Amino acid sequence: MERRKFLQNAGIAGILAAGAAPAVHAQTAPAIRWRLASSFPKALDTIFGAADVFAKTVSEATGGKFTISVHAGGELVPAFGVVDAVQQGTVECAHTAPYYFFGKDDTFAMDCAIPFGLNSRQMTAWMYEGNGLKLFREFYKQYNIVNFPLGNTGAQMGGWYRKEIKTLADIKGLKMRIGGFGGKVLSAIGGVPQNIPGGEIYQALEKGTIDATEWVGPYDDEKLGFQKVAKHYYYPGWWEGGPQLTLYVNQKAYDALPKDYQAILAAAASHAHIDMQAKYDVKNPAALKRLVANGAKLHPFSKPILQAAHAAAMDLYSDLSAKNPAWKKIYSDYAAFRDEQNMWFRFTEAGFDNFMQTGRGTAKAAPKKK
Ligand code: CA
Repeated sequence: MERRKFLQNAGIAGILAAGAAPAVHAQTAPAIRWRLASSFPKALDTIFGAADVFAKTVSEATGGKFTISVHAGGELVPAFGVVDAVQQGTVECAHTAPYYFFGKDDTFAMDCAIPFGLNSRQMTAWMYEGNGLKLFREFYKQYNIVNFPLGNTGAQMGGWYRKEIKTLADIKGLKMRIGGFGGKVLSAIGGVPQNIPGGEIYQALEKGTIDATEWVGPYDDEKLGFQKVAKHYYYPGWWEGGPQLTLYVNQKAYDALPKDYQAILAAAASHAHIDMQAKYDVKNPAALKRLVANGAKLHPFSKPILQAAHAAAMDLYSDLSAKNPAWKKIYSDYAAFRDEQNMWFRFTEAGFDNFMQTGRGTAKAAPKKK
C-alpha cells in the first residue's frame, strides 16, 4: 500500500517535472541552431560519438530549443580546418584533438597530449580545478575561441611493429606513423615519423613502406586490423598518456547565447567528457582479449627506451620554453602540476592499482588449510 502510494507520487512528480521545464523554455527561450564540425570520421564511434552525446544533452536540456547538428570531418570543412572555421565563424563550434594544430603554435598540443604529460584523471583535474582551463581560455582568445574539455581516450597503446623493439638501436631509422606532436620526440631518439591518413596505414604497413604505426587503443586499433601485418603490440603510448579532446566555440556565437544556454553548454560538454572515457574503459578490455586471441603479441617498452624518450621530451620542452612565451607560460604551470600529481599518485593510487592489476592477478592462491 505504502509502496503503491510512493510510486503514484513519484509518477506525478515525474510528470510535473517533465511537463514544466519545456513550457518555461517555450515562453522565454530563443530557438538557436548551431553546426558542429568534427575532425573525426563516424567510424571512430567513440570519439565522434562524444560530440553526438554533447549535442543530444544540449537539445534535451533546452526542450529542443537549442540544437547543434554534428558533422563528420570533411563534411562542412576539412578535418584539419576546424580551427580556422571556428575562428572565422564559418561554423559555431568544432570537436577536435588540439595537438593536430601544433603547426600553428606548439602550445595547442598541451590542451590535448604531450609526451610524458598528464594522464586522463590528472588532465581533467588540471582543466577543471587547476589552471588549465583558465590558461587555455586566455590562449585561445587570439583565435576567437572559447574552449571546453570534451572527452579523453585514456592512455593510448604504443602501437604495432613488424619486428620486436628491444633496444634503442631498434628505434634508429624506424619508419613509424605517429600522430602529430609525438613525432618530434620519436625523431629525437632516432625514429622517422610518418604522417599517413588513417585509411592508408594498413596498406603501408603491409607493404613495408612503414615499419610501425600507432593509432589509439585496442577498440579503435582492432577495426583497422593491424595485428594481421604487424603483430608486436607495445605499451604504453608514452606520447599520449591521457589525450583530451576539445570543443571549440566561436567567441561571438558563445557571447550571443542566453546565460542559461551557456550553462547548459558547459554542463553538456562536461557530461560528454566523462562519458567518452567511460566508453573506452568499457570497450578496450574485450577488444584487447580479441586482439591477443587473433595473434597480437603484447610487449612493454624497455626502460632504457622510455628513459631516452623522456629525456628527449624534457629537452624539447626546455627549447620551446626558450623560444615561445605562450608555451613557457602554460608549460611552467602544467609541469609543476604534473610533478605534484605524480608525487601524490605514486603512493596510494599507484599502490592500489599495482596490487589490483598486477600483484593480485599474478599471485597464487594461498594453500588451503586441512
Ligand atoms: Ca594516437
